[in-house]
Amino acid sequence: MKMLKLNSKLLSVILLMLILAISCSKDTMDAAPGPDPNPDFEDIPVLDITSKATLTVSKDNPDGPDGVEGSTRLVDGDTTTKFLIKDFSLVNIDFQFDSSKLVASYQFTTGNDFDGRDPMDWKFYGSMDGKDWTLLDSRMGMQFRQRRTNYRFYFENDQGYTYYRWQVAKVYGADMFQASEFRLIQMPPSAQKAEPISWVDSTSKDGLKLIFVNHSEKENLSYQSMLTNTFFTVYPKLLETYNPDALKRIYFIVDPSYDGVAYSFGDVLVFSYDYMEAHPDEGDVAVHEIMHKIQNGYEGDVPGWLTEGIADYVRYRFGIDNPDSWSLPDYSPDQHYDDSYRVTARFLVWIENHKNRDFVQELDAALREGTNYKDFWVRILGKNIDELWAEYGGNPGL
Ligand SMILES: [Zn+2]
Repeated sequence: MKMLKLNSKLLSVILLMLILAISCSKDTMDAAPGPDPNPDFEDIPVLDITSKATLTVSKDNPDGPDGVEGSTRLVDGDTTTKFLIKDFSLVNIDFQFDSSKLVASYQFTTGNDFDGRDPMDWKFYGSMDGKDWTLLDSRMGMQFRQRRTNYRFYFENDQGYTYYRWQVAKVYGADMFQASEFRLIQMPPSAQKAEPISWVDSTSKDGLKLIFVNHSEKENLSYQSMLTNTFFTVYPKLLETYNPDALKRIYFIVDPSYDGVAYSFGDVLVFSYDYMEAHPDEGDVAVHEIMHKIQNGYEGDVPGWLTEGIADYVRYRFGIDNPDSWSLPDYSPDQHYDDSYRVTARFLVWIENHKNRDFVQELDAALREGTNYKDFWVRILGKNIDELWAEYGGNPGL
């Protein structure tokens, strides 16, 4: 009797789960309502239909739409002209057709200069009435390595819309936006595809946000969780030690088109896909680069070798899994303090071990105030940098 009761309970639970499963899948099937696809769309050609649309923008160039860098330049078919917006904030670039069109691709052409003005995050929408918008495509962490070059994006769309909107939310690293051309491409369903591929993951923790963008075709990168963990472990310590006002929202971008190791720009940190695939254990590459975010705000004339030396010093001090392939090189007489990176870093470690334990923390603060580094050396250590380097050379043990 007891057994039977239990079984009927179990049975009702299973039944309930079944009902839930069926209703869930039904919801999913009904999730994309709307009119049936127009069968005529199969007969349409792949065609640039930009010239059939009327363009309006939510913010134009100060000289107006017909100015030398006005919005009409975006669609004039000439990649030697460009549309430029000053004091950039989110902008809607709208195209209105006189009848519905099936757009499933768009082409963006970079400006002639300053890649910091390139769009980085955007959404692309369609609308029947110019009021209710349907999201068709979304991109984050985009970068463009060539000037005046066409970049084509594809997505899948089986609905014709009268209005299309390119909504640029963020530029790569400037206060201006520019684009030479933006073209809308009509495509029949049979010709549609979804590319270029990119995978975006956002992680928030302790007031920090990391947006991880993977532009490779490989969905799962073995080092993604390691880089993410390195960021959330080390970056709070760097904020606390050096600069609590540094950026709280950072992009990590894995880029197959970049052939270096990694670099920092604005709120972006770019890792070479090829390098990371070959060195999947080097999470501390991120430590050097995130220190550059902390260094934002150095005033005055700070030499590059010192900035890089401090970043490698920080990798040495705060790195969590430096592999055997990365360590500070022993001193040799042919080195000089401005050799940058690890050579400078080792000199800084030596100064801390022998002279002043807080030297780099104080140096970082002084550089942020615009203090000349040579003056700082004398003020804190009582000797100039050349004298200290000579002393280091005579007794270089850490
Ligand atoms: Zn660097």
